[in-house]
Amino acid sequence: MLEIIEILKEKYGKISCELIHSEDYELMIAARLSARCKDDRVNVITKRLFRRYPTLHSFASADFSEVEEIIRPCGLSNTKARDIVAACQMLEVKFGGKLPSSIERLIELPGVGRKTANLILAEVFHEPAVICDVHCIRISNKLGLCRTKDPSKVERVLRAVLPPQESTGFCHRLVRFGKDVCRARNPKCGSCELVAHCDWVRME
Ligand code: SF4
Repeated sequence: MLEIIEILKEKYGKISCELIHSEDYELMIAARLSARCKDDRVNVITKRLFRRYPTLHSFASADFSEVEEIIRPCGLSNTKARDIVAACQMLEVKFGGKLPSSIERLIELPGVGRKTANLILAEVFHEPAVICDVHCIRISNKLGLCRTKDPSKVERVLRAVLPPQESTGFCHRLVRFGKDVCRARNPKCGSCELVAHCDWVRME
């Protein structure tokens, strides 16, 4: 495990979340938009969205159909718009305008699952987090770290094997690695730095 961590560190260095935001609640919104949508596209849309709604209160009191119109290019716009407005309302009313600092409280917010809760834990509270997105799940299985597609099970397995101080960076690096080397279609196994650690390529 430590060797895998080191190889990815050497390849990508210091790395953080690619979703652009300046306020904590904006990260929650950007993460909701990123479901089944690429970060690059989310960053284009949030630039406009955060200009139109510059405060938490402006989101909490927004007309959700207007939010939906702006976020349409991200897909699932109806559900995402409802979640964003409802989550901002709950943040204001129940949490005093501040994101809570535990996974259990964070997942009370509409549209916030364990992946986003872990991301918030890492980016906002600088706590060790295991952010299980599609890349993390796919590559963890290929490397033989787990044998499941269930995000909460993958999270549990990775939490057990990753040194806490490495877990957030490891997950961020896996995302980058999943985009440019171990892609879902046509992984570049011939030039992969992790080939010696890969169960999947041995079984092929
Ligand atoms: S060898 Fe291929 S499948 Fe295995 S981690 Fe590398 S790119 Fe992915």
